[in-house]
Amino acid sequence: MSQALDAFGRPLRDLRISVTDRCNFRCTYCMPKEVFGHSYRFMDRKELLDFDEITRVARAAVSLGVRKLRLTGGEPLVRRDLEQLVAMLSPLDAELTLTTNASLLPRKTRALKDAGLDRITVSLDAMDDATFRRMNDVDFPVDRVLEGIEAARSVGLPVKVNCVVKRGVNENQVVPMAEYFRGTGDTLRFIEYMDVGATNGWRMDDVVPASEIVAMVGGRYPLEPAESQYRGEVARRYRYLDGKGELGLISSVTQPFCGDCTRSRISAEGKLYTCLFAVRGHDVRAVIRGGATDEELAAKLGEIWRVRGDRYSELRSEATLLDAAPRVEMSYIGG
Ligand code: SAM
Repeated sequence: MSQALDAFGRPLRDLRISVTDRCNFRCTYCMPKEVFGHSYRFMDRKELLDFDEITRVARAAVSLGVRKLRLTGGEPLVRRDLEQLVAMLSPLDAELTLTTNASLLPRKTRALKDAGLDRITVSLDAMDDATFRRMNDVDFPVDRVLEGIEAARSVGLPVKVNCVVKRGVNENQVVPMAEYFRGTGDTLRFIEYMDVGATNGWRMDDVVPASEIVAMVGGRYPLEPAESQYRGEVARRYRYLDGKGELGLISSVTQPFCGDCTRSRISAEGKLYTCLFAVRGHDVRAVIRGGATDEELAAKLGEIWRVRGDRYSELRSEATLLDAAPRVEMSYIGG
């Protein structure tokens, strides 16, 4: 198969694979307890793509140009035997990464590394323990996330740390996060709080713009912009003037980057989405379980990508914000 280009000439480069819709955290901005409580119906095991099916999708995507595979969720490490999937995906010609809340990392890192994982992204929204426990809403301590990060470093997995900033909730954690991670070799990235899904009650007032975050960190530790390294790089990078590394800003709300978006996402039940803010996915599981060959599967994925015209973040306006159509949840599609 040849490189797939969408309706705006954007190549398909990334596939984010959600392996479960379950999570052991209840982050208030992502899986609020009032919605994702005891009576919430998560997917059944038989609804999930199995590891063979995921591998087939990934292989087809790589044949169309995908160069980065990211396992996500829900919390990907709650999916049993995830390291087996890593071992199945690692021979493909693509970088293999994982996004995790790190709660289960200490006991999993060695197996993940041995199975061929290339790097890891850890989500951490505060250095202050009380703030972090309030945000994850399951009373999970910061120290255990830091242990997970340390475990990843100790087996040689490069680490990125993602911090979502929400106004009035953890904006006072921006400088402490920068302080802790600068000079460690781990890349810290701040993410603007986005209007994904419909359950988090998102309001523009809750967003701390990336420019403000840069000003906060730069006021303490002077920064200069760094050039982007490749097309479709989501983070704008800044360098500490004192040589203590870099910082990334993901500003999809205030500085949308749809023009360079090369990402596709597949849900745990096999629905393919060509935009994080999509309302509807394409049922790839039906194609696989309907008996498609690998070539037919790749042709189907290519067909979906070639007609892609999504650019939600650029079109975001009061009108779209008030749109009643239920967008997919972050916990369903994984970010
Ligand atoms: N459980 C894994 C984790 O914690 O990294 C993977 C899935 S989680 C949905 C992926 C990332 O999405 C996390 O870093 C989380 O903070 C981020 N996220 C969730 N809701 C968000 C929102 N509304 N805006 C920006 N980032 C969000």
